Amino acid sequence: MLNLKKMAQPILGMELSEIRAVLGETAPAYRARQIYQAVYRQGIASIDCISTLPAGLRAELAATHSVGRLEPVRHFDSLDGTRRYLLRLADGRTVEAVLMPEAARDTICISTQVGCPVDCRFCLTARMGLERNLTAGEIAGQVLHVVREHALDPRDARVNVVLMGMGEPLLNLANVLKATRLATDPEGIGLSPRRITLSTAGIIPKIAELGREPVRPKLAISLNASSEEQRRELMPITRKYPLKDLLDACRAYPLRPWERLTFEYVLLRDVNDTDADARRVVRLLARLKCKVNLIALNPGPGIPFETPAPERVASFQEILKRSVPCFIRKPRGRDVYAACGQLKRMSASGGNQDGRD
Ligand code: SAH
Repeated sequence: MLNLKKMAQPILGMELSEIRAVLGETAPAYRARQIYQAVYRQGIASIDCISTLPAGLRAELAATHSVGRLEPVRHFDSLDGTRRYLLRLADGRTVEAVLMPEAARDTICISTQVGCPVDCRFCLTARMGLERNLTAGEIAGQVLHVVREHALDPRDARVNVVLMGMGEPLLNLANVLKATRLATDPEGIGLSPRRITLSTAGIIPKIAELGREPVRPKLAISLNASSEEQRRELMPITRKYPLKDLLDACRAYPLRPWERLTFEYVLLRDVNDTDADARRVVRLLARLKCKVNLIALNPGPGIPFETPAPERVASFQEILKRSVPCFIRKPRGRDVYAACGQLKRMSASGGNQDGRD
């Protein structure tokens, strides 16, 4: 009896056909659609709230299923308006999502794994290791939570979603793709596929697999180094997936007509931020339809690198800009550990607030 609630299957994460299968053949087809829309469009809190369903069906469904919304634990507000959410999953683990409001758009950054198995030297999430993959419902659930909290309309062109939180999305590709289909279904959440972007450390075979999907996010690659040796030091995954092969995979990637690749480059003072590095990056990216986002290192406890001076970042950008569109990603929410590479279930003061590791 005690475990009944725990055993309830979450509807969040199910596609329409799966909800149909739950209802069985005797239920009229429109019932599944009513449930689907209640969960993904209205963002209802519990099955009892699906007012379009007859009471009997509601009770029957509630006996075996739950909506599966993520449970907010707490949030942290940055002085710059960024808000970092700590959300609890059904098994008690927690995951983070971030909202970055700007004048012209709102960006929601979501996680795809609890922790991360890719051990990039400059990233705090890497210190956690991998706890587990998130389900499609847990990934899409982060978007639903943030849009609900801020009364955002995912159909509005202001809203962008980036899979750049905790985890390596291409190591959880099936769930990421299902979450993308749920997030972009016009019958449901309704986000435009042009406004969802996935970032990868460079899992080469999965890049090709992603390219074959009809419904997929835009692709961003964490480049972060200007040579094979340097990248091997900073991102040890380069030993398995060499930079040269990664760039070949990028050149072979089937971009949609409106699309271009994004390369992210974390600038580490005196490590990969020289003018010579910038010139090498220009050569690496030749013949690619792309843009570059520069990220000055967001510091963290135990991260053995320093942030370059703004003039260094500007000089690096100048060199790249001659050949490729190049932008500097504004640090958002650094004061509450919400910025790139800082997600590790940290309290604003730098401690760890949920009693785990
Ligand atoms: N694992 C995926 C998704 C995470 S995206 C990936 O690696 O792409 C997070 C982005 O922040 C990546 O581009 C990563 O290189 C960058 N990053 C990691 N640690 C950082 C730090 N300390 N400061 C700034 N950027 C960082």
